[in-house]
Amino acid sequence: AHLLPDAATKAVCGFCSTGCGLKVHLKDGAAVNLTPDPDYPVNIGTACPKGWEALSVLDAPDRARMPLLHGKEVDWDTALKYFCDQMRAVLDKHGPEAAAFISTGQIMFEEMAFLGALTKFGLGMIHGDGNTRQCMATAVTAYKESFGFDAPPFTYADFEESDVLVFIGANPCIAHPIMWQRVLRNKRNPQIIVVDPRATETAMAATQHYAIKPKSDLALLYGIAHLIIRDGGVDTSFVEEHTTGFDEFEKFLADYHPARVSEETGISVHRLVHFAQTIIHGTLRVSFWWTMGVNQGHQATRTAQAIINLALMTGNIGKPGTGANSITGQCNAMGSRLFSNTTNLLGGHDFRNPRHREKVAAATGIPVQRIPDRPSLAYDQILKAADEGTVKALWFVATNPSHSWIDQNEINRILDKLDFIVVQDMYCSTETAKRAHLVLPAAGWGEKDGCFINSERRIGYSPKVRRAPGQALADFHIFRLIAHYWGCEDLFRAWSTPEAVFRVLQRCTEGQPCDISGIAGHEMVQKSSGVQWPLSKDDAAKFKATTWKERRLFEDGKFYTPDKRAKFVFEAPQAIPEQRSTEYPLVLITGRGTSAQWHTETRTGKSAVLAKMIPQELMLDLHPNDAAPLGIREGMPVRVISKRAELTAKARLTTCVRPGEVFLPMHDPRVNQLTHASFDPHSRQPSYKHSAVRVEK
Ligand code: SF4
Repeated sequence: AHLLPDAATKAVCGFCSTGCGLKVHLKDGAAVNLTPDPDYPVNIGTACPKGWEALSVLDAPDRARMPLLHGKEVDWDTALKYFCDQMRAVLDKHGPEAAAFISTGQIMFEEMAFLGALTKFGLGMIHGDGNTRQCMATAVTAYKESFGFDAPPFTYADFEESDVLVFIGANPCIAHPIMWQRVLRNKRNPQIIVVDPRATETAMAATQHYAIKPKSDLALLYGIAHLIIRDGGVDTSFVEEHTTGFDEFEKFLADYHPARVSEETGISVHRLVHFAQTIIHGTLRVSFWWTMGVNQGHQATRTAQAIINLALMTGNIGKPGTGANSITGQCNAMGSRLFSNTTNLLGGHDFRNPRHREKVAAATGIPVQRIPDRPSLAYDQILKAADEGTVKALWFVATNPSHSWIDQNEINRILDKLDFIVVQDMYCSTETAKRAHLVLPAAGWGEKDGCFINSERRIGYSPKVRRAPGQALADFHIFRLIAHYWGCEDLFRAWSTPEAVFRVLQRCTEGQPCDISGIAGHEMVQKSSGVQWPLSKDDAAKFKATTWKERRLFEDGKFYTPDKRAKFVFEAPQAIPEQRSTEYPLVLITGRGTSAQWHTETRTGKSAVLAKMIPQELMLDLHPNDAAPLGIREGMPVRVISKRAELTAKARLTTCVRPGEVFLPMHDPRVNQLTHASFDPHSRQPSYKHSAVRVEK
């Protein structure tokens, strides 16, 4: 009876970028249970295990309930004075580049915009980046160069409307299980192509699986483009009318003949031809989907653009069931891309452009001279500056780099050099919180309100449905308090509530590709089951007058570049930074290991239900051919050793990995001790997919 609700409210899930709708059951105004929302257009009544457990993880005993100063509980007044004294001392003594923040794709987009505005316009910092650098920076950079704006073009309906779905470095079966449900609803009897070194759950369900050598994806994609041209499969009218750079691309591809590409990828010439024939321009709708297997690579941006090039040359964009479609990672990664005020100025603007600074100043009421004229350093560059001593203080919000950042021992060594570390988080037990001088206790999903933006650009609203524990506060309120204690609250008079910030941000987007000025506030977002960007003031009437609920970009063939044409961007593949050697003969690939856990398990690790759905020990996937000469049998404990560290795991012998390759799930806190820190030069995204290791009994 205590679970019998007397009301329900709509929310969107706060874990992954799918952005599922949930119905939260309320009793006396507080959440007692939840079920998937059958009317929400994203998930249509389904949810993955994480979504079902969204409430239970809020009750964990290690929730941060009070501010902690050097591990001791203090009141908010003491904590905020300390925060301001320390940050101000660093900035006054060492200049505006000496303190930085690391934001997240996990908080509401109004909150992350406030954080970016507070730090840069209020506190006077220059640098701040997000953990979205670890997942989406590559797609952002690729889209900007190819389309003129960071613009994933698709809607989830495209999963159901394709004749051929090509998944590259993506395992939606477990990484985005509800998107995979949308694939299963496809009634067109589609071909499903998977490009992945591993026989993942998605690869096993595919009609064609290309188990390429790790990080040979760029060569493969160029080889497929070569064959499409050779066999007359280019949509020449689309290319001529809507793109630039194809002639140069065609010349560049001349070297990517099938024999060479077969050698570099490990895929036979016959199968390369079969792949190309499947997607060749004709009557079939082909959609291309990618995620971390592409984005987390040493040449990730060019690989993403090689996918975009395939969509452009075959005319598969701007129509149902098509697109070059990057699937986002976190619940609000898209919000971070446009509104975190890190690499882009609010609303996808450019810090370096004086007109953009003037426009954002007018929209926000912030004096233009307070807006920096350059973007932030990227995450890895901020850490490098910390190592070199120019960054002295870091403020981490809802992220746990001591677990998740590549080459973990190195980041921990750097963090230990800092004068001041602040962690603002729901839990006081994260690996990073343990290193912090000051911990600020934050409310979690369901304990505050605001919006997320999902992979298909849908803004979804999530309300407050319960109280945060102890003295934990919504991130939004923490930022307001810091503005007050810092003495800059006058700058943020208009930023009084998440809804008020939503209005400010709407003004920032006017005239941008991501224009959301036509949305009538949070209520419309909630009642409409989310609204995709763009929705300009001109669009608003159409939205009201029809049942228009979905929007695909580029239906008119016009892109966001100055000449309205998409651009073919390409570059020769680069050598893999850490090659196998006699001492380290195996390639370690890391990635998502289960649909039942989320990233560093900071939240999902608290659920007893989810804990039962995963192995209790760290499992190393190892091919039997590699195990036999080492005398390793199924279930044996093994040491996995890289140049940087070693750990123990249990061997799982499987042909799902190729000989010479091993796999570890990223959720275990030790795995990133092994990974080699290399970065895509264009997006600065870390490459988690290729480190050299050896395995011993
Ligand atoms: Fe949906 Fe992702 Fe939440 Fe699962 S974690 S319910 S797939 S939004």
